[in-house]
Amino acid sequence: MIRVGDVLVSKGEGGVYGERELDGYRVWDPYRSKLAALYLLGTGIELPPDMKVLYLGAANGTTVSHVADYVEVVYAVEFAPRPMQDLLEVARRRKNVMPILADASCPEQYAPLVETVDLLYQDVAQPDQAAIALKNCVFLKDGGYLILMLKTRSVDIRKEPAKVFRDTLDILMSAGLTVNESTWLAPYHQDHAAILCTK
Ligand code: SAM
Repeated sequence: MIRVGDVLVSKGEGGVYGERELDGYRVWDPYRSKLAALYLLGTGIELPPDMKVLYLGAANGTTVSHVADYVEVVYAVEFAPRPMQDLLEVARRRKNVMPILADASCPEQYAPLVETVDLLYQDVAQPDQAAIALKNCVFLKDGGYLILMLKTRSVDIRKEPAKVFRDTLDILMSAGLTVNESTWLAPYHQDHAAILCTK
């Protein structure tokens, strides 16, 4: 990953969400992107130029745009029409972003559009977040990575975040995934955790 001093950055055309520039790079804001927060608080994984990514919960393309600065292709799934309009603009300016208007809980909807990927990134904030991630593992190559951004309060507002976190780890491990890293994302994102697994 590219850093200028201790600031995480990416190299690409700026002006996507009002991000700052530093020495010609785009500053990757950890308050706007859970993935940036993971890189600053934990370890994460490298994003090499030949990497293929399936990204669930693309929203308006803030994090997608930074990931696309690093990798070969990002298949970006989003089901809400409003953020999709912004995502289309990101895709117009980055030819390696493939926007897909679809429900991530129904991967069969976009199976014909997606190839086998090296990284499955999941940030959909639904009660069945882990189940959605597992369904989409069909697109993940053996040895590939899953990064699940867990919003504990979306899973169950009545449960302690730590309990939701432990239960989610159990679900992922029971499905045969290996958990490499799990990191709470405070102070950037409260009650959110990043879980990094390999298939
Ligand atoms: N990943 C984004 C970023 O870092 O820039 C932020 C994602 S936001 C927390 C979650 C997004 O997931 C929302 O835009 C929401 O519409 C989308 N979403 C929620 N459930 C979804 C589903 N089942 N399928 C596709 N998108 C979904």
